[in-house]
Amino acid sequence: MVKKSKIKRKTLFLCEECGLGYVDRETAQMCEDWCRKTATCSLEITKKAVYKPNLSALES
Ligand SMILES: [Zn+2]
Repeated sequence: MVKKSKIKRKTLFLCEECGLGYVDRETAQMCEDWCRKTATCSLEITKKAVYKPNLSALES
């Protein structure tokens, strides 16, 4: 489930799998579906991310 979150006064949609934030829910949902299916990130999708949490979390 994509999380809606306010970061730096902007409403962002966060992928629950990788934590990347997007300005629109659709892209966040795409990312989450992708992450869940492949356990990797799609560059096509993640390049649209506007918020990146601690990326080391992706390596665990
Ligand atoms: Zn993701």
